[in-house]
Amino acid sequence: MSLFGQALGLTRGLRFRLAVSYVAFFTILLVFLGLVFRQTLSNTFETQMSSVLDEEWGAAKGYLQTGPEGPNWFYDEKDPDESFTVRRLQRVYMLADTQGHVLQHSEIYDSIGIDPPAQIQAILQSGSPAIRIRKDANGVPYMVRSGLWVDHEGHKYYLGIGRAVDYNDKVIHDFTVNYFSIVPVVIVLSGLLGWFMAGRALDPLNSVAQTAQRITHSNLDMQIPLRRAGDELDRLIEAFNRMMTRLNLSFEQIRQFSTDVSHELRTPLTVIRGQLEVALFTAETPDQYRDAMINALEDVERLSNIVRALLMLSQAESGQLVLQKAEVNFSELVRDLVEEYQIPADAEGVRLSASVPESCILLADRVQIERLVTNLLSNAVKYTPAGGRVEVRVLQKDDEIKFQIEDTGVGIAPDHLPHIFDRFYRVPSADPEKGLGLGLSFVSWIVKAHGGTVDVESELQKGTRFTVSLPAGVVRRPLPETPAFSTSEPLH
Ligand code: ADP
Repeated sequence: MSLFGQALGLTRGLRFRLAVSYVAFFTILLVFLGLVFRQTLSNTFETQMSSVLDEEWGAAKGYLQTGPEGPNWFYDEKDPDESFTVRRLQRVYMLADTQGHVLQHSEIYDSIGIDPPAQIQAILQSGSPAIRIRKDANGVPYMVRSGLWVDHEGHKYYLGIGRAVDYNDKVIHDFTVNYFSIVPVVIVLSGLLGWFMAGRALDPLNSVAQTAQRITHSNLDMQIPLRRAGDELDRLIEAFNRMMTRLNLSFEQIRQFSTDVSHELRTPLTVIRGQLEVALFTAETPDQYRDAMINALEDVERLSNIVRALLMLSQAESGQLVLQKAEVNFSELVRDLVEEYQIPADAEGVRLSASVPESCILLADRVQIERLVTNLLSNAVKYTPAGGRVEVRVLQKDDEIKFQIEDTGVGIAPDHLPHIFDRFYRVPSADPEKGLGLGLSFVSWIVKAHGGTVDVESELQKGTRFTVSLPAGVVRRPLPETPAFSTSEPLH
């Protein structure tokens, strides 16, 4: 990777972005705090200074009186305290009459600018004292308080008293310089700390990524060990592990499916090949060839049935087979199919009967529901020896429709019962000519796809009972009396 690429990779990394966010946050916070503190300092100084000036202005009023030569300072010159105070007050001061004619002023006041008559009159008219900041020729700032002074005899004057505030400005300036020269150092340090902390926080993520990279199709059962910190990362690992378990299960199903398929297809293919070879080497007359062809064709037919069924089952299981739901009169559908099966049942010597309500509406995919009933019906007839009985019942209870099919057939041993819904599962003793072992897989999928359940109870050599429960999925209409739903043991 080029240097530029490396730099680009670094800047795109989560660690870099976390550290940068940390630095950005710190910078904004420090600058904001600095500015707030500076402003607070300046406000405090200003309030303090204006109250000091208020006091001095009041003190100045106490020393000023109107004598024969106009207003003047009166104090005990021998009293060092008083002399000192008055000298201090006289440092920055000016006195004018109400017209704005300056009567007295100090040198410093002159340098910060004598108030023009218009300004004096405006301040006097406003009725409240004015506080202003002025700078002298050297740029030293002064705070000046000016306003109306009325002497004992009721003469009105304009009095301004000021004080240098350069010390305050210096403190604020020093604070600003010191603070903002420390800020970059703090930011650099916080950046380093952020980089270090982000690295530590992301370390487990890197180890998770490394483990995830080691997972291939051959070790899908691999799990990332939990850190047991109970944090977000542990939840991520848990979710990842659960996803791996699901993936593993799907892969296992696919593997099983292909094993089952190749196994199921091999047998009929071997049979066809054998038949054709025998015909090729031994058949002599056209009739013998014809017989061999007919046999081979029958097996090809069986093969294409398997392929068709497999295709549909794989489509169904992968969710590609979409149900076309519509209102179906389930009673009618069951009656018709039972009628259809009457002939093969008679031929097998099996008595087939149905107990179905007049009408029973179900929101379902008609084709699939027919397949479900047919598969169960054909199994019942197929696995019931001559002289036996098959009974079909339909019952609607609230929003649930129950379909029960009970036979007095060969039954299923308890060991096999849990597996009969598996793909290609056939009870070993079952006649190989009788089926593909896919019928019940279809039943299971169709029931699940319609949001229902299927149960089976069976006893060897006595009989089997399948019970399918389906949600009606439609608003129930009044139905004629339905026969009571039997919960007795399977028919024997
Ligand atoms: P098949 O096409 O072999 O009938 P199914 O998936 O329909 O495949 O059934 C799986 C197995 O369950 C069958 O091989 C059979 O042994 C058993 N089975 C299904 N229905 C019945 C039944 N009514 N009575 C006895 N055994 C049954």
